[in-house]
Amino acid sequence: TVLPPRPSQRLDGKVAIVTGAGSLGDGLGNGRATSILLAEAGATVLCADLDLATAQRTVEMIVQEGGKAASTDADVSSEQDCEALVAAAKDMFGRLDILINNVGIMGAEGTAVEADVDEWHRGLSINVTSMVLMAKYAIPLMLKNEPGDGGIRGSIVNMASIAGLQGGTPHLLYPTSKGAVVNMTRAMAYNHGHEGIRVNCVCPGFLYTPMVAGDGMSDEIRDQRRRQGLLKTEGNAWDCAAAVRFLASDEARWITGTAMTVDAGVTCSY
Ligand code: NAD
Repeated sequence: TVLPPRPSQRLDGKVAIVTGAGSLGDGLGNGRATSILLAEAGATVLCADLDLATAQRTVEMIVQEGGKAASTDADVSSEQDCEALVAAAKDMFGRLDILINNVGIMGAEGTAVEADVDEWHRGLSINVTSMVLMAKYAIPLMLKNEPGDGGIRGSIVNMASIAGLQGGTPHLLYPTSKGAVVNMTRAMAYNHGHEGIRVNCVCPGFLYTPMVAGDGMSDEIRDQRRRQGLLKTEGNAWDCAAAVRFLASDEARWITGTAMTVDAGVTCSY
C-alpha cells in the first residue's frame, strides 16, 4: 500500500514574523516562547517588539541554540510600522510564510460606565486593528509563495484568550477585544482560504508570564487560577507556544478558522 504524503512539523526554509517577541528581562512571555519554538523547528524568525532590546534578547537566545533570527522595533498600532515590518522580512529574507500576531495588552480598566473613549480606541487599536494591519501587508507577500503542502501559501496565528470566549472579568475592554480577535480570525480565514492562506487563533487560559508577574499578582489568586483548571497545574508560555507552532506548521495544513483553547480545560467547566 502507498500511503498519502504526510505533513511535516518542521519549518525549514520558512520565514516567520512574531510581534511582541520580547519579554521583560530574561522572562518567558508568549512572543519569546513562540519565537524560540518556531526557530527550533527550523524557521527563520523576525522578532519584532516595541522595545528593541528585549526583541534582541530573544534573538540571542535563539542564536545560542543554533537557530536563525533577527530583531526589529515596531509599534503594531502604527500602520506605517506594520508595513515596514513586513517589508523588513522581505528585504532580509526574501519571503514570508508565517505571521504570529501576538501583541496584546490588558488595556482600559473598568466597566462600560467607567469607559474613557480614548483609552478604548487605544486598546482596540493595539489588540485588534494591529492584527488587521499586519495581515493587510503580510498576505500579499505570502501570496507570492508557490503553493506548498496542501496548497498552502501562508499561515497566520492570532493571539486571542479564553477571555474572548467568556465574560468573567471586571474589565470590559480585554474580553471585548479578544472576542473580536476570535471572530476576526474566522472571517479572515473565510476571506483568504481559497488563496491558500490559513488563519487560526489560540485562546490561552491564565499563563504565568512576565506581564502577569509584573502586575504583582498575589500567591492566593495565582493558586486560585491554578485550581480552576481541570488539570490543577499552572501553564506557562511554552504550553501556548507549542499550540501556535502546530497551527503555523504544515501539520495543520487542513485547519483554518479555528480557535484552539490552551487552558487546562477551564472553559469546559461551569
Ligand atoms: P508580555 O507582556 O510578556 O509580552 C508582550 C510583548 O508585547 C512585550 O514585549 C511588549 O513590549 C510587546 N508590545 C506591547 N505593545 C506593543 C506594540 N504596540 N507593538 C509591538 N510590541 C508591543 O505578554 P504575554 O503575557 O506574553 O502576552 C502576549 C499575548 O498573549 C497577548 O496578546 C495576551 O493578551 C495573550 N494572552 C496572555 C495570557 C497570559 O495569561 N499571560 C493569557 C491569554 C492570552
